[in-house]
Amino acid sequence: MTPLMLGLLLSAVDAGPPPKALTCLPTWYAGVVAWRADAGWGLGLPDGGFLAWHQEASATTDPDSEESPDLEEVFRVPYPKGLIVPVDTRDAGPIDDPGRARVEQLFTATYGGSAKEIFARSAKVRFFGVRYAFHELAAPALERVVERLTDAVKQDKKLLPFLQLIGGTVQWRRIARSKNLSAHAFGIAIDLNVDRSHYWRWAQPREPIKWKNKVPQAIVDAFEAEGFIWGGRWQHYDTMHFEYRPELLSPTCR
Ligand SMILES: [Zn+2]
Repeated sequence: MTPLMLGLLLSAVDAGPPPKALTCLPTWYAGVVAWRADAGWGLGLPDGGFLAWHQEASATTDPDSEESPDLEEVFRVPYPKGLIVPVDTRDAGPIDDPGRARVEQLFTATYGGSAKEIFARSAKVRFFGVRYAFHELAAPALERVVERLTDAVKQDKKLLPFLQLIGGTVQWRRIARSKNLSAHAFGIAIDLNVDRSHYWRWAQPREPIKWKNKVPQAIVDAFEAEGFIWGGRWQHYDTMHFEYRPELLSPTCR
């Protein structure tokens, strides 16, 4: 062991063990847990990049922000799975939507950094009669969601219209009024029937934000059981939107 390596090791010991949520990320994402003297714990990416768990002056979850959030920020607002609860939007700031903080570098390292790359790594998933492209890393989870939903529809036919004429899956685009890529760009998000959904930017009047939802519990349950978060949990609600974010639903990451 060189003196440098020994020094790094000792400093790492000083820093204590890595945060639990950080150690769970490589289960689904590119990178390995690493420690750097100048940046502390973080993820070493395959391209040699490093994402610090905690960055001084990191941005909030504000999707309009120019700054990228750090990894810690991704976990700051716990994701509340289960019973649908109307979201209190009385003092809706830009910062408290669980899962809306995304570290884009982690997503590009994991899923691909261009439309071409994402397209090349897309699988097809049959979703209630139509085949949709979905990222190959997230497609098996979506297929399991379809199995759950198929059972749910057998119990309750009224669920079916929410799952037909859907908004879509993969689309290389940035978030409205933001420079950040949408989860749809990576092929890990699906929008259900737009006509049966509510989106805060479409509401009239838009201010003050008033949460609305028609998406049934059984649909939300099926997605959350397989590692998808729901945009209906956000103050800036987007009730058609489901996004593969297993790190936010796994008990091992808490
Ligand atoms: Zn969406």
